[in-house]
Amino acid sequence: MVRVSTDIAGTPVGSTPSIDWPDLPARQQPSWDPAELAQVLAVLSTYPPLVFAGEADLLRQRMAEVSAGRAFTLQGGDCAETLADVTGPNIRDRIKTILQMAVVLTYGAGMPIVKVGRMAGQFAKPRSSDSETRDGVTLPAYRGDMVNGFEFTEASRRHDPDRLLRAYHASSATLNLVRGFTSGGFADLRSVHAWNKGFIQGPAQARYEQMAHQIDRAVRFLEASGVAEAEEMRRVEFYSAHEALVLDYERPMVRRDHRTGLLYDTSSHFVWVGERTRDLDGAHIDFVSRIRNPVGVKLGPSADRDTVLRLMDKVDPEREPGRLTFITRMGAGTVRDVLPALLTSLGEEAHRVSWVCDPMHGNTFTSPSGHKTRRFEDVVDEVRGFFASHAEAGTHPGGIHVELTGNDVTECVGGVNPVDLDDLGLRYETLCDPRLNHQQSLELAFVVAEMLEK
Ligand code: PEP
Ligand code: MN
Repeated sequence: MVRVSTDIAGTPVGSTPSIDWPDLPARQQPSWDPAELAQVLAVLSTYPPLVFAGEADLLRQRMAEVSAGRAFTLQGGDCAETLADVTGPNIRDRIKTILQMAVVLTYGAGMPIVKVGRMAGQFAKPRSSDSETRDGVTLPAYRGDMVNGFEFTEASRRHDPDRLLRAYHASSATLNLVRGFTSGGFADLRSVHAWNKGFIQGPAQARYEQMAHQIDRAVRFLEASGVAEAEEMRRVEFYSAHEALVLDYERPMVRRDHRTGLLYDTSSHFVWVGERTRDLDGAHIDFVSRIRNPVGVKLGPSADRDTVLRLMDKVDPEREPGRLTFITRMGAGTVRDVLPALLTSLGEEAHRVSWVCDPMHGNTFTSPSGHKTRRFEDVVDEVRGFFASHAEAGTHPGGIHVELTGNDVTECVGGVNPVDLDDLGLRYETLCDPRLNHQQSLELAFVVAEMLEK
C-alpha cells in the first residue's frame, strides 16, 4: 500500500493546499467568465511548480546579504513579457545583457551580485484605465498576455482564462532555457567578458575605457591563476521574478513545501507587489504575507513612514533577513527630496529590509511623436539620488531594478550612443513601458559600477 503522508489539514504533502483565501479587495483583476475560470484553476493547480522552494530559500539568504550591505542585486527584464517574444534568441540576449551587466557591477561593487530576471511570469500589467478608446470604439484595456491580447479587437481584448495556462507554459519554457544557459557553460566569465569588450570598442570607449581596462586585468589575473577554470566560473545563480498581480495565476501556484510544510508561490523565486496594488488591507499584500518567498513591495513618492512600517508589520513581522525588499521608484526630480527623509524617519527599521532602486517608473514621459519614453540621463540621475539618499541616511543601497531588453530597440532616449527623440519610431517594440536597449543597459552598469566603487 502506498502511504501518502498528510499535513495537519489533511492535504497530501507537496500538493496544492486548499487555502481559504480571505475575500479582500483586489485592484487590477481581470473579469473572467466564472465557469471558464474554474476549469482553468483546476488545471493550473495540478501543474508542477516552476521553482523549488529550496531555491526561494536560497534567494532569501542572498537577499539577506543585500540587506546587510554585503551583496548588491541586479533585477532586470521586460516591462511586460509577451507570448510571441518567448523565443530562444530573445531569452538568450536578455540573459546575456544581465550577465554582462553583472560582471561590470561585480567589479565595481567588489561584492556578489544577486542576479534576478524580471522574466518567466511577467505577463500581466496594471493599467490606469480599464478601457481604451480608438476612433470612437471603446474596448477593455490591454492587461498583458496573461489576460488578453494587444490587438484592438473585441475578441482579442476579451479576458480569457486560457491565457493563464499559456503564461504558465511560456514561463516554464523560459525558465528551462534560462537554467540551461546559466548552468551549461554559456555564462562562463570569459565569454561574458569577451562580449563586454565588444561594447567598449564602440562609442563607449572614451568614457568607460579605464574601468574596462581594469576589469580586463582582473579577468586576466583570474585566468593566469587558474581560477577561471573552476566550475564556479562556468555557472551562475540566476533567479526569476515578476509582479504578483493576477491572483488567479499566483494562488493556484502556491504549494506546500514537502520539507517544511510551509507555503511558497512556486510561480517564481521572487514576487513583488506594485505601487498600484499595495493597499495595506488589500488582497495583494495579504497574499505575499502568506508565502515564504522573498518578496518586494514598490514604493512611490507618496509612501510615508507609517505606511512603510505597517507594510513591514504585515509582510515581515519577524523582520527576517532577506524576506522583504522595498523597491523605490521616486523619480529623478523627487528622489533626493523624499527618500532621505523616509529612510531617516524609519530609524533602525530601515536596516531590516533591502532597498532597491527602480529608476524607470518615476521617469516616464510622452515624446512629441507620441511614444512613451524615458531619458537615460534621468535613469542615471535617479540611481545617483538613490545612492546619495542612502549615504545620507546611513543605509545600504541594495540594488537596481530596471526594464531592459537585449535587443537593439529605440524606446528610451539618450546614452553614449544616443537614441534621439526623433529615432523612437525606428524600433519601438514594447507593448507597455520603454526598456533600455542592450547598449544603454551596459552603459548603466558601467555608471552604477562607478558609483559602487566610491
Ligand atoms: C512595473 O514594474 O512595470 C510597474 C507597473 O511598476 P509600478 O508598480 O512601480 O508602477
Ligand atoms: Mn513597467
